[in-house]
Amino acid sequence: MSSLGADIREQFPILHQEVNGHPLVYLDSGASSQKPIAVIEAIKYYYEHDHANVHRGVHTLGSRATDAYEEARDKVAAFLNAKRREEIVFTRGTTTAINLVASSYARSVCGEGDEIVLTPMEHHSNLIPWQQVAKATGATLKYIPLQQDGTISLSDVEATVTDRTKIVAMTYVSNVLGVTNPIREVAAIAHRHGARMVVDGAQSTPHLKVDVQELDCDFYAFSGHKMCGPTGIGALYGKMELLEKMEPIEFGGEMIDRVDLFESTFKDPPERFEGGTPIIAGAVGLGAAIDFLNGIGMDRIRAHDAHLTQLAYEQLSEIEGLTIYGPRDRTGLVTFNMKDIHAHDVATVIDQEGIAIRAGHHCCQPLMKWLNVNATARASFYLYNTEDDVAKLVTALRNTERFFN
Ligand code: PLP
Repeated sequence: MSSLGADIREQFPILHQEVNGHPLVYLDSGASSQKPIAVIEAIKYYYEHDHANVHRGVHTLGSRATDAYEEARDKVAAFLNAKRREEIVFTRGTTTAINLVASSYARSVCGEGDEIVLTPMEHHSNLIPWQQVAKATGATLKYIPLQQDGTISLSDVEATVTDRTKIVAMTYVSNVLGVTNPIREVAAIAHRHGARMVVDGAQSTPHLKVDVQELDCDFYAFSGHKMCGPTGIGALYGKMELLEKMEPIEFGGEMIDRVDLFESTFKDPPERFEGGTPIIAGAVGLGAAIDFLNGIGMDRIRAHDAHLTQLAYEQLSEIEGLTIYGPRDRTGLVTFNMKDIHAHDVATVIDQEGIAIRAGHHCCQPLMKWLNVNATARASFYLYNTEDDVAKLVTALRNTERFFN
């Protein structure tokens, strides 16, 4: 059992409030995590002391801001264990990062008859960009089938990926099922067929120790706001040999090498992909979030989150008429429905007791179809949650069940 939650929640000011007359129980970190004082203070300090535009001015504040921004890149590179700092491109988040790979890399390598392989559990952010690539290039989308418990099997991956496959794009952790996919093994299969592996790391990066070299993925996308950082910042990791060949998709200041009236050349990665004034304060905040998580230790965070998730899984399983989706072994969240009660009603009723959970399709409409539901409720856990939060959720759900039946 871990005491992380109770110790750490002191550092999250937002958690110390009452909602609808009850102490807030925040169980929606899968959608967006809360921010510790260290992150809030880092952004405040940056704006109070160091802010100027980056990479342009020769004055002192300009170089301090540039240093702060580039230090954040170093922190992200180390956090993901990238080989080189230049392999980290700052983006607005996971969605923008995946769109960058789709619009730049995939459109240049996919043609008529080529294949893009996905799973039905993908978030819309890792699905629609590939539909758009398929439409534009004549490539075909293929799906690795889900097994009954929502996991994928490597033999199905083997059977789906072929020599015509150019991209395999997959989430590391599902935001609905909590499934952790075997990315390293899938990447090895993709590579045997000459395909590239794109990983949606939105739900994995907050909970797991990520090592992009060990996974041997070609691209890895994540969002800062789900891992104690601010909104509006995330990153794309890409292997340098791929980034070097990719065309920028946004053009303007900061990303150019030389500009003439009729022709321009562009900087090397990552600047080539960061046109315009970048998200400087966001990067500073993300860097502070990484320091914060590292200060606790990703192994401890993983163990704590796994403990609470397992506890919730077991206790929710005992509630009559409650169905949990996905396998027992899961990362960070429990998704469920209560018989005859719409997920939105469940979330609305327990919000009256100060408990925040998510309800809806979770940006996974194809997966909802596969589950044969319109919506589900989802409780997600992070380092500031406690066993007491789980107990309050369970009590509130039991009361909800009684109230409706
Ligand atoms: N992929 C997964 C698995 C997610 O859970 C999310 C966000 O919920 C995203 C992608 C999109 O992240 P963002 O909205 O930060 O770009």
